[in-house]
Amino acid sequence: MQIIECLQLQVLAFKQYNSPSKHFQKKDLVIHKAQHLKEKPQKDFAYTFGGISTDYMLDIDYDADNGGWKNPVIKANEPFMLDPANATLQYSIECFEGMKAYITVDKKVALFRPDMNFKRMNTSHKQLGLPAFDGDQMTECLKELVKIEKDWIPDRPMHSLYIRPTSICMDNKLGLSSVKKCKTFVVLCPVGPYYPRGFQPVKLYCDTQIVRAWPQGFGDKKIGGNYAPALKTQRKGHELHGADQALWLLHDYVTEVGTMNFFVFWKNEQGEDELITPPLDGTILPGVTRDSILTICRNKNQFKVSEKPFKIQELMKACTEKRVYEAFGAGTAAIVSPVKQFVYDNVNYEIPIDAQSGAGKLTHEILQTITDIQYGRTKGHQWNIEVCNI
Ligand SMILES: *Cc1c(COP(=O)(O)O)cnc(C)c1O
Repeated sequence: MQIIECLQLQVLAFKQYNSPSKHFQKKDLVIHKAQHLKEKPQKDFAYTFGGISTDYMLDIDYDADNGGWKNPVIKANEPFMLDPANATLQYSIECFEGMKAYITVDKKVALFRPDMNFKRMNTSHKQLGLPAFDGDQMTECLKELVKIEKDWIPDRPMHSLYIRPTSICMDNKLGLSSVKKCKTFVVLCPVGPYYPRGFQPVKLYCDTQIVRAWPQGFGDKKIGGNYAPALKTQRKGHELHGADQALWLLHDYVTEVGTMNFFVFWKNEQGEDELITPPLDGTILPGVTRDSILTICRNKNQFKVSEKPFKIQELMKACTEKRVYEAFGAGTAAIVSPVKQFVYDNVNYEIPIDAQSGAGKLTHEILQTITDIQYGRTKGHQWNIEVCNI
């Protein structure tokens, strides 16, 4: 009897969890006016990456024991209090996203593939035991926030509004248990070009002792716990070899670079020109930029495009045989980040870089194609999601 009741309750809980009506919706959005608005930066302000936040944030609370998702709220972006026993502080029950809004050449505000970010955020939620949300409703709420804050977006070349959706656990309990209360919020930050003085190609360090992600693990989720511990390798690479970033290996297989996906453009062993990146096998973060680059290059149809595992030894051999044309990292912040060198077992391997521009030809083309879509120079692209006029 008791077992049956318990099962029934579980079925009920499962239904509620999956019921779409329980997801928050844009139609319920509440806006609280901020008391004070900050002064916006001057027209010629030198934006860096991060540092400034806008006036408002989107804030959505969830309480499993009190009706699930609450109404989404747009309110002043202000510090909030956390109990010292808060489970996010204790156990990193946290996930985040990184995306951007742009002012297009037609003076419209646009997002780039927001559906991809919120789909990915839901997989992070699932990993952490946070409740699912409706990605389309989340995009609609985000659009409202961006509309309110559109005057913060610098209308200057290669500038944008960085968008940081975040979810945290709000339970205050030192015992590690399933999440009852959580909070999803979005803050915004106007940003300048990632490379204000042109590309700065990076040197990479291969740490053969450490893996960032492993098969059947969770390295493919954008959850806070994956990031801080990885910085040790970056520090080590910097101290030992003056490297800028880690080139992550899983045993001998190349996976990612720093917090970016990794691409190599080379002449492969078969003599074919090939753009290669490791496959989404659970050890690779499924980057929106990665997916966009694969699609763009497959549409070009000028060379082979592969999602295939490859070993660092293959890359070293190709470098020695001068078969590598270019290598780069890919992610929202920089879009592409050219690689000039990597160090493995105390040996430096060179990757060709155009000395003048700091990047190879394909790297330039990819940056151009993606920014043409983002800034609306390519008209009516399906990845460019219009928000409003400026
Ligand atoms: C965010 C991230 C990326 C890039 O993803 P984008 O969606 O392209 O920004 C790649 N690798 C890691 C580890 C990341 O955290």
